[in-house]
Amino acid sequence: MADVIVIGDGPAGLAAALFLAKNGMSVEVYGKNESWVHKALLKNYLGFQRIPGPELLRLAREQVEQLGAILVDAEITTIKKVEEGFQIDAADGQGSTADYLILTAGPKTSLVEGLGLTLDEKGYVLGDRNGRTNVDKLYVAGWSTRPDKIQAQISAGDGAAAALDILSREKGKEFHDFDNLEDDPDLG
Ligand SMILES: Cc1cc2nc3c(=O)[nH]c(=O)nc-3n(C[C@H](O)[C@H](O)[C@H](O)COP(=O)(O)OP(=O)(O)OC[C@H]3O[C@@H](n4cnc5c(N)ncnc54)[C@H](O)[C@@H]3O)c2cc1C
Repeated sequence: MADVIVIGDGPAGLAAALFLAKNGMSVEVYGKNESWVHKALLKNYLGFQRIPGPELLRLAREQVEQLGAILVDAEITTIKKVEEGFQIDAADGQGSTADYLILTAGPKTSLVEGLGLTLDEKGYVLGDRNGRTNVDKLYVAGWSTRPDKIQAQISAGDGAAAALDILSREKGKEFHDFDNLEDDPDLG
């Protein structure tokens, strides 16, 4: 059992995993490394003049794995609300449970059916600005909640906001992931 299951391994899911794993939560990310970012040549991602999408994803996957997130190569077929939290099942028979779930599966997905989630008129899951949905502890981030304003950087920001909201709930106070330059013996 993990603390958090993330469904989707695009910028939204990987950014959420980064913040969660960096701050001590166990997180499993499910996907088959098929984000739409693989098609992009990004010239609008802060910090890079231009970067091929596959390279951005390679760096991001490496970063989150180094922080301890587990990337699972699997397509999720069902999500169920259970007593322990959320249970997921994958097409290849894998499964898992977690207290929290963050849905970042990209454009509209049938995965949300039967969970009692509130959808917008286009069928996308509604979330507040931290990705909280009407189902407690189930979050949504990135393209999964945005039929418009589809940008990699916006998805990454959404994922980070959902992760910070979970970390704040767990710590019982507003949490900011700040590191100080002066604390680094080599750089400060
Ligand atoms: C041709 C093209 C060019 C683009 N160029 C740019 C650009 O230059 N700049 C820019 O900012 N944006 C660009 N974009 C948009 C960018 O790709 C999206 O903003 C970004 O992919 C959204 O990230 P996300 O994490 O929200 O969703 P996604 O990247 O769609 O990630 C969702 C992930 O969930 C996985 N998934 C889906 N269903 C399941 C399931 N059942 N189980 C497990 N995993 C699942 C998917 O395979 C995918 O890996 C471009 C898009 C396209 C198509």
